[in-house]
Amino acid sequence: MPALTLENIEVIYDKVFLATKGVSLEIGEGEMVALLGSNGAGKSTTLKSISGLLGPERGLVTRGDIRFGDQSILNLGAPERVALGLVHVLEGRRVFGHLTPDENLIAAYRGRNLGRFHELREQVYAYFPRLKERIKSKSGYLSGGEQQMLAIGRALMTEPKLIMLDEPSLGLSPLLVQEIFGIISEINAREKLSVLLVEQNAAATLDIVSRAYLIEQGQVVMSGSAEVLKANPDVQDFYLGGA
Ligand code: ATP
Repeated sequence: MPALTLENIEVIYDKVFLATKGVSLEIGEGEMVALLGSNGAGKSTTLKSISGLLGPERGLVTRGDIRFGDQSILNLGAPERVALGLVHVLEGRRVFGHLTPDENLIAAYRGRNLGRFHELREQVYAYFPRLKERIKSKSGYLSGGEQQMLAIGRALMTEPKLIMLDEPSLGLSPLLVQEIFGIISEINAREKLSVLLVEQNAAATLDIVSRAYLIEQGQVVMSGSAEVLKANPDVQDFYLGGA
């Protein structure tokens, strides 16, 4: 059974605008899958439909179903979805700028078990040793890459089964993109964590995921293994810059 199934999801904004027009996708247990597409294609909207961040004033799922394992989660609130193990790292590295990295991790832990908290925190610092070096800084003073690492670290503190990352490469240097993508792959492999990676950076993304879906104007226009997509002439022209 897939870890996550989207069946024909339709989202409207402002009563009329169709942001997604029947998006279907599946992510297997422990699989790393990408959702690729240009600006405004409907990627963030799809992620928000999964994490429960849409609402009457912020877009509404009007059709379709979303299942986490075999359970429909469409009628659950966002915190309940996090409690099930579904976590969403929003675009733009949302961290508490006035808190230190450590305080950010403390704030992100939702459990009551101090021992488990320490384990999780050490795990985060093991993946992102740079954060430990910046332990006394206010997070607002961290570099863009470090803030992205902290945002991912905060998500890991919720002990997710599936993590959704919205454009983690945005605004980062190619070298830093390689570093962060490398760590995401490592987390995926070690923790058997399913990953849904939303990106505009198709070239770097297709190097680390096993499969991808291409979305345009609210619809999935193509999907397949990373190898097959990389070899596709249309993908090369439109997503890989004619590479
Ligand atoms: P980006 O990379 O820019 O985030 P995206 O693929 O994630 O692009 P979405 O943010 O999902 O795209 O947007 C899909 C469409 O829905 C766009 O046309 C966008 O203008 C519109 N949209 C997004 N959020 C809202 C909102 N709160 N109210 C109205 N329209 C919205």
